[in-house]
Amino acid sequence: MTLSLVGEILFYGYEKGDSVLQPLWDYLRLHHSGTLRSPLFPVVLTVSSYFVFCFPYLFCDIMGEKWPSIHRYKIQPSRTPTPAMLLHCTGITLRNHLFLVFPAAVAQWAWRPPVPLPERAPTLWELIGGVAGNLLLFDLQYFIWHLLHHKVRWLYVTFHAIHHNYSAPFALATQCLGGWELVTVGFWTTLNPLLLKCHLLTTWVFMVLHVYVSVEDHCGYDFPWSTSRLIPFGIYGGPNKHDVHHQKPNTNFAPHFSHWDRLFGTHADFSFATAKPRQ
Ligand SMILES: [Zn+2]
Ligand SMILES: [Zn+2]
Repeated sequence: MTLSLVGEILFYGYEKGDSVLQPLWDYLRLHHSGTLRSPLFPVVLTVSSYFVFCFPYLFCDIMGEKWPSIHRYKIQPSRTPTPAMLLHCTGITLRNHLFLVFPAAVAQWAWRPPVPLPERAPTLWELIGGVAGNLLLFDLQYFIWHLLHHKVRWLYVTFHAIHHNYSAPFALATQCLGGWELVTVGFWTTLNPLLLKCHLLTTWVFMVLHVYVSVEDHCGYDFPWSTSRLIPFGIYGGPNKHDVHHQKPNTNFAPHFSHWDRLFGTHADFSFATAKPRQ
């Protein structure tokens, strides 16, 4: 089998012109069209992904030092969240979902017509490129927003300070956010795939991945499968970089990649935050 044939199968599917994702897309649109076309679907998808991704880290936090094989990967090992901290963040998250996410979802359901599902699936390249493009665009938008909300005192106190209650982040602190920040983040993650003309499948993959990396940013653990370890050359910050932001709040404003902080002189080395597995 030649390399070009392997490439063709991987990126264009088994029949010329068909994406390798076409069978999956056909299955989804033919069997679950009602669910997928609902304007509520992206909301349900992201909210449920959030709790699913938080749960394993929450379990690690509850186990703490009783689980040494996991605890040795904690970035700040002496600072395990207390039950009061976990409850506080759960309360804020529930409040935000009840008063912001739920009404926004109902409004979408009431005012937006069901979304048409295209027949063609994206190619694997379109999906990967779209997800990467969305992550890069969000990274820039949030970098600017975040920088402003740290540099302008009124913005910090009014909107962002709540997220800095804890200098040793943990997964449930991801959405320990003020309403304005949650609305802004939700607005960009909804708008950006439309701006980049992404396929719906690409949009949903981006949304789920974005929830994952946001939770991972706050998880407080530097596991061997951490994104900052999987993506080489310090291009991607991951949990270490954002942990340093919570320790030194005037540094590392970009949520995912490291280039904007390097360009604007706000980069702080996050290698020291890397947990050295203790024997
Ligand atoms: Zn944070
Ligand atoms: Zn901040």
